[in-house]
Amino acid sequence: MRTLDGKVAIVTGGNSGIGFAAAKELKARGAQVGITGRNPERVKQAAEQLGVKGYIADVSSVSAIDQLVQQVKADHGKVDILFVNAGIFAPAPVGQIEEGAFDHQMGINFKGAVFTIEKFLPILNDGASIINLSSVNAYTGMANTAVYAASKAALNSYTRTAATELAVRNIRVNAVNPGPVSTPIFSKTGMPEEQLNGFAQAMQNRVPLKRFGQPEEVAKLVAFLASDDASFITGSEYNVDGGININPVLS
Ligand code: NAD
Repeated sequence: MRTLDGKVAIVTGGNSGIGFAAAKELKARGAQVGITGRNPERVKQAAEQLGVKGYIADVSSVSAIDQLVQQVKADHGKVDILFVNAGIFAPAPVGQIEEGAFDHQMGINFKGAVFTIEKFLPILNDGASIINLSSVNAYTGMANTAVYAASKAALNSYTRTAATELAVRNIRVNAVNPGPVSTPIFSKTGMPEEQLNGFAQAMQNRVPLKRFGQPEEVAKLVAFLASDDASFITGSEYNVDGGININPVLS
């Protein structure tokens, strides 16, 4: 299904997890793909594995995004698909939220997303597709996720406004809300393994389909929204969550 032939796609945070799987899927459907990330070695490895171009850019730095856009412009000219995926999960209980941690998480998950789009806009083709990677956490009220969830809720709100404003250029803007997905994001929280396993088990029990999702299952939705098959879809949010959002009291 080469639905993306001739399109140029950029995936932020494409060296790991959902971004990696999405880069693979977009490429398999015919797009020319570039991935970004912070760690040069990891980006190089992933880019080689995928057979795509890798770029180094920390999305919490607006000047780094500026440089990224200049590089992408030099390599590709224009972009058709922007998957705004880079993000971190840094849980903290209300009452123990530190200012630096707040700024860090918001700086990547929300400000980073907003300025990625802001800076890429001049090199997006009319008719481009922007997909923002949000989370069902924006709605679930899960303990310890106040700032993470708010960063994603802000992103969903931004998605709707941006969709309205960018419709004049036929640029579609949508958000994808995954439930729990098996990626390295959880091990990066610094939680001890035992606590992580308990967290994973509790989470899994609450998902009606009784399992974590796989990054590839999110990637397929992203590839659909990126394609012209989704040409009348903008300003929307799609859950890909094993049903966790439909029955929050399920045990
Ligand atoms: P991951 O840790 O495997 O991947 C995150 C990617 O973002 C990595 O490539 C990382 O390098 C990149 N990144 C992080 N901070 C960055 C920065 N400052 N600049 C540039 N790149 C940066 O995790 P994942 O689960 O694949 O996460 C991808 C997205 O999915 C995130 O936005 C996350 O919030 C969201 N999400 C994940 C889940 C889940 O259960 N895994 C659920 C809902 C939403």
